[in-house]
Amino acid sequence: MIEVVEEIREKLKDFKNKGVRKRILITDLTPRDGQQCKLATRVRTDDLLPLCEKLDKCGFYAVEVWGGATYDVCLRYLKEDPWERLRRIKEVMPNTKLQMLFRGQNIVGYRPRSDKVVKKFIEKAIENGITVFRVFDSLNDNRNIEVAVKAIKEFGGEVHAEISYNRSPVHTYEKWMEYARELAEMEPDWISFKDATGIMTPFECYQIIKGIKEATEGKIPVLLHNHDMSGMATINHMMAVLAGVDMLDTVLSPLAFGSSHPATETIVAALQDTPFDTGLDLAKISEAAEEAKKIKKKYKKYETEYAGVNAKVLIHKIPGGMISNMVAQLAEANALDKIEEALEEVPRVEKDLGYPPLLTPSSQIVGVQAVLNVITGERYKTITKEVRDYVEGKYGKPPGPISKELVEKILGPGKEPDFSIRPGDLADQQEWEKAEAELEKILGRKPTDEEILLYILFPMQAKEFLLAKEKGELHPEPIEEVPEIAETEPGKVPGAAPVEFDVIYHGDRFKVKLEGVSVESEPGKPRKYYIRIDGRLEEVQLFPKREAIPSGQGATTTAPAQEEGIPKATEPGDVTPPMPGKVVKILVKEGDPVEQGQTVAVVEAMKMENEIHAPIQGIVKKIFANPGDQVNPDEAILRIEPYKEDKSYQ
Ligand code: MN
Repeated sequence: MIEVVEEIREKLKDFKNKGVRKRILITDLTPRDGQQCKLATRVRTDDLLPLCEKLDKCGFYAVEVWGGATYDVCLRYLKEDPWERLRRIKEVMPNTKLQMLFRGQNIVGYRPRSDKVVKKFIEKAIENGITVFRVFDSLNDNRNIEVAVKAIKEFGGEVHAEISYNRSPVHTYEKWMEYARELAEMEPDWISFKDATGIMTPFECYQIIKGIKEATEGKIPVLLHNHDMSGMATINHMMAVLAGVDMLDTVLSPLAFGSSHPATETIVAALQDTPFDTGLDLAKISEAAEEAKKIKKKYKKYETEYAGVNAKVLIHKIPGGMISNMVAQLAEANALDKIEEALEEVPRVEKDLGYPPLLTPSSQIVGVQAVLNVITGERYKTITKEVRDYVEGKYGKPPGPISKELVEKILGPGKEPDFSIRPGDLADQQEWEKAEAELEKILGRKPTDEEILLYILFPMQAKEFLLAKEKGELHPEPIEEVPEIAETEPGKVPGAAPVEFDVIYHGDRFKVKLEGVSVESEPGKPRKYYIRIDGRLEEVQLFPKREAIPSGQGATTTAPAQEEGIPKATEPGDVTPPMPGKVVKILVKEGDPVEQGQTVAVVEAMKMENEIHAPIQGIVKKIFANPGDQVNPDEAILRIEPYKEDKSYQ
């Protein structure tokens, strides 16, 4: 550490004596990473455009507007065509390079695709307005980014190849340098060092950035992308500047810090009038920040308690987004009390899988398996299809070795995993042609390339979306602002609930006022109450278990309407999912004989496909659920009848 400080002092002397200036470039991430971290990516294009217009006037190196979760969320929740979003943003940002986050061979999805699809996506993204591609692979298996890197250059885009940070026994300083040299050989336009969890420490950051500059002999500019979960990112930015970084990633202050990034305004101001001055105008940036503030207010309900600085991340190393996913899934499975257990299980699964950095898709692969290990009460009792594929090498080569036990459980005794084949080659090479034909049948016309890409990456969502779009029936999830409550004097309206009252708790008196309640949310998701306690506004999340109604009123409506379709599981032969999800496939027909443990259905939960196994041996008596149906753990997807004593079926 002393050496670093002395080194920095010498460098600064040089800057002073020789009058050297080095302008630090800034890429603003507010419309993509910023809103993804703070508002669950729920901001609609209509609300993003005024912000984008203002950002276009600031003179940033680039602005990140697309990729990452935007593609998925547009389809699932916002019912927007992500391609249309990109074109509309491009229209209002003629002066700035538009950037997207690209998951290498996984594109913007959750598993590797064929090279043809990767190239097609890049070609179309550039055609629709993207210039800069931040390309990463969540295992740092650079075979997963080389095809993209080549294609981006071929089609005239700009490549920022990324190294993803993780802290583990296998992630040494030497390993980072090895990755940097590998990337440099691909001749990207930039090398990006990314800490998506936000646990890198300042002196480590200095060493790594300096090391990468040296390892690449200063030929390739280097940038830092550092999430701020532990609160250290702003310090890291300064250390990176002193280590020779060329560009920093920031987010406008209303959506900055914590799970997000250091604020653009903060970094610009901190470097002002130093040899590293960004040359950007704070007044213009703050105009854009005003737009971000409006967005933050409108989408308040998506802000989670995990969005702020939480230094506990230094201990459990789990990114904020991953925690909120796990919380949501446990809540839906009615097992929220197991959250601590699940968080403790994460590092064990991570170790078993060879320490993948917790980024998409490895964060989902690790997170879902950790949740399953806890919910089922036995580690690896249910193994997701993704963990199987991972062990079979379909995602690439993990940074460290996979646990021998897990390998043998999946591949068989004495077997070793084989990572020699590139995931792009293991992917279905015909997926483009197949998707094109299927989609033409669904739509009854020739689909566009963009539509085919939607369908390949998210088949179920894209089908639903495109059909609804054709019929003009797109219904985005509502964004309700916190509704007002009609108030009256106490006792005037029978059955009314108090909204302002005093509470005496352990002898202390608190003034409480209910300011608002979010409208009824989806089952399993919390309902938010905004409560003022002694003048301070607090948000409380409630997971309602039972609701009361005034006696004599609406007693007939209390019994839940008998649901059609999928019944509750009652028989030992009822096949149920381990957690709530959407049925992707039913692999058997009524009348089929099945073995105990046979895979009979596939259910998508937490963006992962889970194989569902037959609980008993027998005959498929009745199938209750269809592909696309939402099923809960207490519901029967299908029913298996055990063989009769006389084994007449055999
Ligand atoms: Mn990020």
